[in-house]
Amino acid sequence: MQHLYIHIPFCHRRCSYCDFNTYANMDGRIEAYVQALCAELAMLREFGAPAQPPPILVDPRTALGSTIFFGGGTPSMLTLDQMERVLAAANSIVPLAGAEITIEANPGAVLGADSPALDYFRGLRTLGVNRLSMGVQSLHDPTLRVLGRIHTAAEARQCFETARQAGFDNINLDFMFGLPGQTLIQWEATLDDIATWGTEHFSLYSLILEERTPLYAQVMGGRVSVPNDDATAAMYEAAIERLGAAGYVQYEISNWARNSAQRQTPIAPHACQHNLAYWFNANYVAAGAGAHGHVYPQRYHNILGVDEYINVVRSGRRPIAEVSELTHADLCAETMFMGLRLNAGVSFAHFHARCGAAMDEIYGQTLAELGEQGLLECGEDGVRLTAHGRMLGNQVFMRFV
Ligand code: SF4
Repeated sequence: MQHLYIHIPFCHRRCSYCDFNTYANMDGRIEAYVQALCAELAMLREFGAPAQPPPILVDPRTALGSTIFFGGGTPSMLTLDQMERVLAAANSIVPLAGAEITIEANPGAVLGADSPALDYFRGLRTLGVNRLSMGVQSLHDPTLRVLGRIHTAAEARQCFETARQAGFDNINLDFMFGLPGQTLIQWEATLDDIATWGTEHFSLYSLILEERTPLYAQVMGGRVSVPNDDATAAMYEAAIERLGAAGYVQYEISNWARNSAQRQTPIAPHACQHNLAYWFNANYVAAGAGAHGHVYPQRYHNILGVDEYINVVRSGRRPIAEVSELTHADLCAETMFMGLRLNAGVSFAHFHARCGAAMDEIYGQTLAELGEQGLLECGEDGVRLTAHGRMLGNQVFMRFV
């Protein structure tokens, strides 16, 4: 198997907007969870051989290296010793050597008390972790407080510099826009500021108000206001313009990578290889509470709760909550709407290799209609969204479902 996702479902505190599968005040369960995770990875190794052979990738743009991604939650709450044990277990599924190994880090949780940030980051580098994804979200402290983040803007910047000092030369920074009280001028100032940090990668997402979150209740109750759709769209356009001017290549709807002659990877320099695997609709396995895996023709997700997850693994069973069978139509649709998120679009060669059929044979009429509507453009090697289509991405994606 080439791609592995590992979920760490612990946070120091729940952010007000978060609906991820993560739990606060469960630090005492982390060690038991790590042991269960290692046991699940050992079981997953047997399953790791995909039910179908991996696709023959005939498009060099879609030839990815292997990847391991620690997401959460807050993976940086694991100690170095715990991280080492999980990586050792992961190594039997995706060999660590040569893999892109990413860990999500919260600037307010690096780490785990017993080790200063610099030592922790150096330790991660020694273990083979070569990419950090840091959730900064905003450079405006009052907004960070409304979001329930546990760090200030200055601490986030310090954390970034510390990671650099420890040798991380591939860092993603997550930011959000359309935030409570945020103005376009404020967001533009943030963009201009972060463009000078020199990071390799940005993920920028507009705030999604999820039901059952405290922020949703605050906004619905009129206690907090968020920018309207037009203002949020203007913020997105400002990001495209300003990061582009600063030398970042937008390679996906929400992702930018620094242009670099030194580093050439498929699609864009410094593009996240693990996320590319999702956008190429590749097979990947996943471990941890609530983790989702996809090995065509199956998709599965694990049990959500930490204690239930631990107990099931301890009993010697895989902690799967549900398995769905995917049809060939599902495979084709997902290959299209995931791939169209990329600015490079979906190449005919990749579609054929993944789905065993010509794109035109399956979607000829849909492609023609979307082309006539100015949402999609067809090149010699594949199809991609137009700038207009990118603004209406969800409408386009629905046409393939
Ligand atoms: S740190 Fe991330 S995963 Fe944890 S509560 Fe905040 S948004 Fe959710």
